[in-house]
Amino acid sequence: MQLYWTSYDLQLSHTFTISGFSRKTTPVVLTKIEYGGLAGYGEASLPPYLGETQASVIHFLRKVDLSPFPDPTKLDDILIYVDSIEEGNCAAKASIDIALHDLAGKIMGKPWHKILGLDKQNVPDTTFTIGIDNDETVRKKTQEALGRFRILKVKVGGLDDKRMIESIRSVTDLPLAVDANQGWKSKNEALDMIFWLQERGVVMVEQPMHKTDLDNIAKLTEESPLPIFADESVQRLTDVKRLKGVFSGINIKLMKCTGMREAWQMRKFAEQLNMKVMMGCMTETSCAISAAAQLYAGTHFADLDGALLINNDCFAGAQLHNGKMIATDAAGIGVQPNAHIANEKAFFGK
Ligand code: MG
Repeated sequence: MQLYWTSYDLQLSHTFTISGFSRKTTPVVLTKIEYGGLAGYGEASLPPYLGETQASVIHFLRKVDLSPFPDPTKLDDILIYVDSIEEGNCAAKASIDIALHDLAGKIMGKPWHKILGLDKQNVPDTTFTIGIDNDETVRKKTQEALGRFRILKVKVGGLDDKRMIESIRSVTDLPLAVDANQGWKSKNEALDMIFWLQERGVVMVEQPMHKTDLDNIAKLTEESPLPIFADESVQRLTDVKRLKGVFSGINIKLMKCTGMREAWQMRKFAEQLNMKVMMGCMTETSCAISAAAQLYAGTHFADLDGALLINNDCFAGAQLHNGKMIATDAAGIGVQPNAHIANEKAFFGK
């Protein structure tokens, strides 16, 4: 197996604002693993608040030695080794995990949704995120989403929550998910807002309060009429158990949990604990989105709009059909480079 990588900057179609941050680009590192004439593609998406950078990912990738592993389909062996190289580096690890899954799927001649026995059509509608913005822009973004999406996601947790919701409601009655990104300061503030939001057609709430405020979040979840999902409070498999009874469900993201292998383990474990599952994403190309799209059939919510928020997606893969992000039937994660990668060898520095 030969590993290649390259840095790439995703250009966001709209400036993106969530509680506390605003930005126009997202750095990523794209990976490629070649073996026996086949290529598997992977990605590390690096939104600044998560702490990994293109430099830290490349630093990590330089340490990865795949030479002791002759068989790319031995995913457990390889990925346990990759995880052991160094703490953290979850997105860097995901870029190897996704490329290896793509490669292994191609060797097996099947897409992962088939390998896992999932019905790729049986997926929840994906949300489309409307960032915090002025009324006119919010209404415009909402208009753009109509007809394409059947549920919208609103970033709240600031002073403008009610104005944001009213702006969207002046345009559409579509169900809404809200993500407070830890922005509400107390259980009572959160609960008051949740009752107000429920009356306006909100169907779920993500990360209402600070990620470590688990006692208060548990009380909130008990009293909330809407399901409460963990995002910042959950990173990896080892976090899931302590969230039972605290949240209604968990938001699994490949970049937080080191990739598809652990995402699948987290999903199965959450289901054993009778917790709900949603599949989320960062701003990503269709590479990482297509990887996530292999795994989420039968889950409760999905937030897989990451590749739809950028204007230089360099892969073709999972696509939006009637509001759902549907994986292709191509082997592996079901992607191929598009015209943004004019010369693949030059792109990956080979
Ligand atoms: Mg979130």
